Amino acid sequence: MPSDFIRDIINEHNKNNRFGGRVHTRFPPEPNGYLHIGHAKSVCLNFGIAAEYKGLCNLRFDDTNPTKEEVEYVESIIEDVRWLGFDWQDRLFYASDYFEQMYDYAVQLIKAGKAYVDDSSADEIRESRGTLTEQGKESPYRSRSAEENLGLFHRMRAGEFEDGSRVLRAKIDMASPNFNMRDPVMYRILHAEHHRTGSKWCIYPMYDWAHGLEDSVERITHSICTLEFEDHRSLYDWFLDQLGVYHPQQIEFARLNLTYTIMSKRNLRQLVEKGHVSGWDDPRMPTVSGLRRRGYTPESIRTFAERIGVAKTDSTIEVALLEHCIREDLNKRAPRVMAVLHPLRVVIDNYPEGKIEELEAVNNPEDPSMGTRKVPFSRVLYIEQDDFMEQPPKEFFRLAPGREVRLRYAYIIKCVGVVKDKAGKVVELHCTYDPETRSGEAGSSRKVKGTIHWVSAAHALEAEVRLYDRLFTVENPGDVAECETVLNPDSLKTVTGYVEPSLAGATPGSRYQFERLGYFCVDLKDSSAEHLVFNRTVTLRDTWAKIAKKL
Ligand code: ATP
Ligand code: MG
Repeated sequence: MPSDFIRDIINEHNKNNRFGGRVHTRFPPEPNGYLHIGHAKSVCLNFGIAAEYKGLCNLRFDDTNPTKEEVEYVESIIEDVRWLGFDWQDRLFYASDYFEQMYDYAVQLIKAGKAYVDDSSADEIRESRGTLTEQGKESPYRSRSAEENLGLFHRMRAGEFEDGSRVLRAKIDMASPNFNMRDPVMYRILHAEHHRTGSKWCIYPMYDWAHGLEDSVERITHSICTLEFEDHRSLYDWFLDQLGVYHPQQIEFARLNLTYTIMSKRNLRQLVEKGHVSGWDDPRMPTVSGLRRRGYTPESIRTFAERIGVAKTDSTIEVALLEHCIREDLNKRAPRVMAVLHPLRVVIDNYPEGKIEELEAVNNPEDPSMGTRKVPFSRVLYIEQDDFMEQPPKEFFRLAPGREVRLRYAYIIKCVGVVKDKAGKVVELHCTYDPETRSGEAGSSRKVKGTIHWVSAAHALEAEVRLYDRLFTVENPGDVAECETVLNPDSLKTVTGYVEPSLAGATPGSRYQFERLGYFCVDLKDSSAEHLVFNRTVTLRDTWAKIAKKL
């Protein structure tokens, strides 16, 4: 890996021995949603750095907020991080495991006169915080004695007070130019069930208080977080310094934003709850589980994370780069097969009825070791409707009345007749084939301009094919007040297609290139031997190449 500002900091620490040469990172998701591609960047960064420096990376649930659905989220996050290819060994932790320790640390601060119980209401606290130009006002409860504070804090924990009636605050500086230092709240009262601690606690620690302690307890060396926490770093440091405990280094980097994508968990949850998508793992979602169902490989996501690197200022990455990474990966690895998504029947008049030839097809020209397979050829085929035009322009090199085209791995055929329905729609073509032009045989050297794909009608398997496209019509849906108003109505079109018989029993999750159409994968949830379901991962058209040229 080329160096960047994070690796530079670590190298410096290793040189001056700040952490004795250790590198220990963590990925700390809050289990209040599924992981998305932004989180994946953070996963790759934290686990990647640990691996590079022969260090360790913990998976830690930052479950300081009690909410109901957490168990489902915890399970999905574990599955996703593992799928991305990372291993935390026996270091799976929960912030809630440290609640008792955090409480003791809070007592320590109270005893030292560095924290106090404030009876002000949330509104009063907000109003007294001041503004950018005006310093905050000290709370009337700020000068309580340590004994009084200890008694009240104990009673807060014992459940004697109502939600919102009191908080524990750090006693720092109401005149600080940094808002985060104006006596921030450390604990609030919340009589709520927690997915792991049940009803044991009715006070819950705030993020800024809890996070540094979690890092400290786990002896993290580099606590990597996103840029919005830059202004919180002095508070992170203050808490650890006051307690005199082990002190990691917080480092901030710019979060990932992607065009045509929303990354806020709140908005993603809304899409799910309002039924705009089928779930967190809908293949149109930017979640790791959605990308997996869409056909993305862990390798392509790791490559993407590596290519975008880390930066100190926010920017938006083209989603075309992510799509480029999956194309590049699948181009090398996915077997190519033939499938017809908008079938047009073709009868080859001079091909004997009942005759079947098994033609040899190459699985992936990029990788000869992937071998070949047989595809059946017979008198009645399906081709793609748009590979035929009745009145084609000159540059149309596919099929048209009187014109010739090569059928991939098979023969050159010529269109000699067109059958239409009452409405005038073309429903069947009659063709003749040239027996001297079978692919790979002597005589097959005769050239025509176009080659199209096909399947044998009697042998092809019917399949449900879900043609996914971008979920939003605008580049920056995150900036639109109601992102629901810019949903792409064509983000999913479902067709019944025909795939070559080699795909019988294709395993859910397996990925293919449908020749000339794009990359597709067998749906992980809905596909079965009786009912094949394919999801389109991406088309073959690489828009990144165009963008990259302009850069
Ligand atoms: P919330 O608003 O719910 O806090 P969050 O996206 O910050 O949402 P967390 O679960 O707190 O979610 O994030 C876990 C880790 O992933 C954090 O270290 C966070 O900095 C990182 N992360 C979250 N979003 C992105 C993103 N878009 N790009 C890079 N890292 C991210
Ligand atoms: Mg967060």
